[in-house]
Amino acid sequence: MSGTALVVGGGIAGLVAAHRLCAAGWEVTLAEATSVLGGAVSARFLDVPSHGETGAPESQTLELDAGAESFAVRGTAVRALLEELGLGGKVVAPEPLGSWLHGPAGPVPAPRLGLAGIPGDLEAEDLAAALSGPGLARAREDAVAPMDRWADALAAGEPVTVAAIVADRLGEEVLERLVAPVVAGVHSADPAVVELERVAPGLLASAVEHGGLAAGVAALRGSSTPGSLVAGVDGGMSRVTGRLVDALREAGATVLRGVRVAALSRVPATGGWWAQISDRDDEVVRGLDVDRVVLAVDGATAWDLLAPLSGGDLDPDAGPALGDGVALTTLVVEAPGLDAAPRGTGVLVGAGTDVAAKALTHATAKWAWLREVVARPDHDGVARHPHRHVVRLSYGRSGAEPGGLGHRSTDEELLARAVVDAAALTGVPLSEQDVVARAVVRWRPSIPPQAGPDREAADALIAWSRGQAGLDLVGSWVHGTGLAAVVAGVDRAFDAPTPAG
Ligand SMILES: Cc1cc2nc3c(=O)[nH]c(=O)nc-3n(C[C@H](O)[C@H](O)[C@H](O)COP(=O)(O)OP(=O)(O)OC[C@H]3O[C@@H](n4cnc5c(N)ncnc54)[C@H](O)[C@@H]3O)c2cc1C
Repeated sequence: MSGTALVVGGGIAGLVAAHRLCAAGWEVTLAEATSVLGGAVSARFLDVPSHGETGAPESQTLELDAGAESFAVRGTAVRALLEELGLGGKVVAPEPLGSWLHGPAGPVPAPRLGLAGIPGDLEAEDLAAALSGPGLARAREDAVAPMDRWADALAAGEPVTVAAIVADRLGEEVLERLVAPVVAGVHSADPAVVELERVAPGLLASAVEHGGLAAGVAALRGSSTPGSLVAGVDGGMSRVTGRLVDALREAGATVLRGVRVAALSRVPATGGWWAQISDRDDEVVRGLDVDRVVLAVDGATAWDLLAPLSGGDLDPDAGPALGDGVALTTLVVEAPGLDAAPRGTGVLVGAGTDVAAKALTHATAKWAWLREVVARPDHDGVARHPHRHVVRLSYGRSGAEPGGLGHRSTDEELLARAVVDAAALTGVPLSEQDVVARAVVRWRPSIPPQAGPDREAADALIAWSRGQAGLDLVGSWVHGTGLAAVVAGVDRAFDAPTPAG
């Protein structure tokens, strides 16, 4: 069946959904509220001072990922999408430098064989280096302690939080030093409330099968692609959403930017939908009649649009909260001390330290293509800026204490703190004078609820939508955070011919 479809939201979920609908013969309109397509997978441009081959001053415009800068290589959905878009040859691995964790005990290299910070090799040297003697001995109990309690939980389908199982199997030190920084930094979640299944799908079953949490991690990691858990795209992840937009336009889709879908209603005569489209000043621009609606927005917005149509099933005032925001600061610095990549590709920060950032990515250490662009080699290959580096620091912890730095902080506060935090996290002295360019990007509804009443409300909405003809809900709040989860989820929703992982 095909007809007319409206996709609301132009992030990766909406773009992939629109792409799949076009391929299935639907006449697609996509409406994105902001002026930028791609949502959290988009680029921002940053002017940095440079000089020409003669040494004359000029400026260089860097195109940097504003949000996502990599994708998890588990599953095949993103890779298949990239092949489909002609970007297969552009996939790049990060530099194999490893990463670091920064907890109350200071910086430690992250164990290489791990999943969500949970170690997969209890005999590894890097694990011994990261833990105290008693902490390591406690972690190794995981290899011998009975798994009955967790086997029972798995069999009963009981929710198992990350903190509960990690503390029980591997001890508090592993939880605090290794797991909490990853769960907070990558998933913006508290290990005490987030379920293991959300951050490491399949791990509980694997742990039960292999008789220990570390053994479960090793089995899962062993069956996935060797090497890094993530990959990137030469030129940045925004290439992916850029190609999707091109593909949509080539397929004849109507792609609207700067227009918000402000209200939806059912058209009983046709069984279809009517959408009210507003501009940024909330002036109604027009209405649109379609056969099918795909909501690719955050859960709070989806609730606001659908609760009035639910006949009381969904209380308009009881929707999921918009979620915590993230502020991403990017610094371009001249710092020879960073040339040796002292913290590998970056650092995840645990709670209980005096660093306000939750993560630092040393982008020019992580991605060779970016290092090349930033260094600006002359025609004879000599770099004009050999000591220039890009570091990204993110602010805004889930449930952060009021007053903590986050997306509501001013640019000045964030940027000043970013210099201090970058120095503390890398161990390289840095000052304002070393910064040649800086930028802040804010992501408001960027962290889907992982647990608690907001998650329950989101799940209730997803369940309700299944009974609604011509309605699909997609996006990270439905499928999970990150491109691997979102693209695979959208493919499943539209029965894409590509193998979803
Ligand atoms: C700073 C940051 C870094 C990240 N890094 C990574 C990474 O390295 N790897 C990874 O895999 N994942 C990463 N993620 C997560 C990943 O980017 C997201 O999970 C994914 O991009 C979410 O896509 P989405 O389409 O569901 O949502 P979004 O990208 O949020 O898109 C939703 C879109 O809907 C629009 N919208 C909302 N309401 C309306 C309306 N009423 N009408 C019209 N449009 C509307 C919004 O403007 C937005 O563009 C990162 C996220 C952030 C914020």
